[in-house]
Amino acid sequence: MKELNKILIANRGEIALRALRTIQEMGKKAIVVHSTADQDALYVKYADAAICIGGPRSTDSYLNIPAIITACELTEADAIFPGYGFLSENQNFVEICAKHGIKFIGPSVEAMTLMSDKSKAKQVMMRAGIPVVPGSDGAIADVEAARKLAKEIGYPVIIKAAAGGGGRGMRVVEREEDLEKLFWSAESEAMSAFGDGTMYMEKYITNPRHIEVQVIGDEHGNVLHVGERDCSMQRRHQKLIEESPAVILDEETRAKLLETAVRATKAIGYVSAGTFEFLYDSKDKNFYFIEMNTRLQVEHTISEMRSGLDLIEQMIRVAEGHKLPSQDEIKFSGHAIECRITAEDPKSFMPNPGKITRYIAPGGRNVRMDSHVYEGYSVPAFYDSMIGKLIVHDKDRLRAISKMKIALSQLVIGGIKSTRDFHIAMMNNPDFINNDYDTNYLSKH
Ligand code: ADP
Repeated sequence: MKELNKILIANRGEIALRALRTIQEMGKKAIVVHSTADQDALYVKYADAAICIGGPRSTDSYLNIPAIITACELTEADAIFPGYGFLSENQNFVEICAKHGIKFIGPSVEAMTLMSDKSKAKQVMMRAGIPVVPGSDGAIADVEAARKLAKEIGYPVIIKAAAGGGGRGMRVVEREEDLEKLFWSAESEAMSAFGDGTMYMEKYITNPRHIEVQVIGDEHGNVLHVGERDCSMQRRHQKLIEESPAVILDEETRAKLLETAVRATKAIGYVSAGTFEFLYDSKDKNFYFIEMNTRLQVEHTISEMRSGLDLIEQMIRVAEGHKLPSQDEIKFSGHAIECRITAEDPKSFMPNPGKITRYIAPGGRNVRMDSHVYEGYSVPAFYDSMIGKLIVHDKDRLRAISKMKIALSQLVIGGIKSTRDFHIAMMNNPDFINNDYDTNYLSKH
């Protein structure tokens, strides 16, 4: 057991502030690194030490491994919290941390590597007896192999990048005549986004729900699930609204899903927080593994609201060698919803960075605004456009929706366009209220 005293946050935005709070609440020192574009960020002011590590471009700062390691050495930080995105799933970075005696607050490099190639991860899960979406056994060699396989599986199919993330490098193919063109476009998108054009194929499940399970494992072989999340409200395969529990599941299916995720976590000896993502076919009540994310996710907050656990605290405690609480100690209650608020046009979703001239965050019981912005803050154009996450928790789903409506109506963001109005429309949308939606809802409406 080694207590961590100084933790460096290798990230920015809302998650940097979110992590800083937990680190300081635990009585530890929080060190932040930032680019020149983020020098006015709140977490820079609140940090026990802040180091500027480079210019605005991510490659110069948040992806600049030598600068981050140097910042650790200068501040004598003994651990790194990576957040999501940037270096959080970079195996090379995890190895470099280890070489410098810096504890990476996340899974082992072996577990990360195993899950990083999505087509290989599916093979590992299949061998562990976890249901996966039918498709290619590993990568597909070329268009000809893809054509042959698609015929066997039956259209529609989906071509996906093995290194994929954020919904990129993915194409749905409805007919054979479109296959070649879509294969090349998916591959070239994957090459430019991830530097890796390895592709695999899956049966395209029409109108699925995206349901995922939050898990966490410790170094003593204990694994906990922290419930499931329904993340089916998506635009271009990217999540916009998340809720927990997934009320579409009956008790029996939910128990099976949670048990499956715990079994999968144990099968790979996973330590730290992670998420197993599944597609759920509500017609036959089957769920299929699609990928595992080996980091904390944006939507971890709704699991925290329902379980009362602080997931970053648990990740830090696990990294220190502590044991997790037992599953029986975790009591789930009520319903939680998260809306991702981005600096984008609420209709076209075009990014709209700039200065926030007016800002009022909602509050009240069980209303949580995880955001790093303030009045006078300028949203930089260099990074993703998320400016905050609004989370509510209430007795049941309908009450949570009502609470979210009120909270959104009290959220004021002036000077830039934000997706607040999109979320207001969704909270008033009869299909959303009736829980009658799937991952393709927005593409159809
Ligand atoms: P990423 O890693 O880019 O987020 P995922 O594999 O997690 O990609 O998939 C993201 C989303 O794409 C899913 O939530 C779902 O909406 C859609 N999707 C992925 N695979 C399939 C599939 N086989 N059938 C139907 N939809 C899919």
